[in-house]
Amino acid sequence: MSHLARVALVVVLSLAFILVELSSGRPAFGDAKLPPEDQPPATAPPRPTPTPAPTATATPVRVPASARVPILMYHYISEPPPGADRYRIDLSVTPQDFERQLQYLAENGYTTISLYDLYAHLTLGRSLPPKPVVLTFDDGYRDHYEHAFPLLRKYGMRGTFFITTDFINFGNPNHLTWEMVKEMSAAGMDIESHARTHRDLRNRDFQFLVWEILGPIEQITAHTGKRPRFFCYPSGRYDAAVIRMLRSVHTWAAVTTEHGSVHTLANAMTWRRIRVHGRASLERFAAAVRSASGD
Ligand SMILES: [Zn+2]
Repeated sequence: MSHLARVALVVVLSLAFILVELSSGRPAFGDAKLPPEDQPPATAPPRPTPTPAPTATATPVRVPASARVPILMYHYISEPPPGADRYRIDLSVTPQDFERQLQYLAENGYTTISLYDLYAHLTLGRSLPPKPVVLTFDDGYRDHYEHAFPLLRKYGMRGTFFITTDFINFGNPNHLTWEMVKEMSAAGMDIESHARTHRDLRNRDFQFLVWEILGPIEQITAHTGKRPRFFCYPSGRYDAAVIRMLRSVHTWAAVTTEHGSVHTLANAMTWRRIRVHGRASLERFAAAVRSASGD
């Protein structure tokens, strides 16, 4: 064997030894002593396959600067009573019209999402379905349970109900009961706060705002087991102290009665909505939704 051949053989054998040692999981060279506390027991139990810790994905999540989502605003879902004034008529969408609106949304590819979905989209970049729309119902009227809730269920849709808790606490027959609220919440509807008494929250002291804002959060949590994170200003009125109080009790976003559909985190305390007018034709409803969606 030539010198060169001997050298080659030594190299090949060394490499083979290293490979065998590496594949056996032991150190290739020497038998480095582990400190006593690291010594495996004589009969080592089989080690579980280590689960890799979750790591950030290679491509960073893209958090959108803004989202264009119509947040529709409903009040009564019932026939206005005889002799109703024009305000009441404007606030009342009949169950027949409401169903036709849901049908329109379903047939035209809209998907109802919750404010939680919208917030997760803006904070975490979680994706939204195509043509998302939020349906909100203000004031906790009894007809939300009698008409809106069954129709939403019929079409597999989700609604956000802003309730005024003292209307419920005092057993007002035109409003929901806590039993109804609980049932709607358990069925996947979102129950959020529309303050305690629906009074104007502007120019109030700290205690008043605690009473009006923190109280309903606790009550809704106690009755539904879900902690509300969204707020709807009574009659759309607010000032800086109201927003400070909402933020201090960890409210994520609040909706107004102002018109608009572009939402950001920076304007989360003044998200705008699209009013659905009573007696509006389906064409007018469709045009409002389309325009607010940017279609
Ligand atoms: Zn209201």
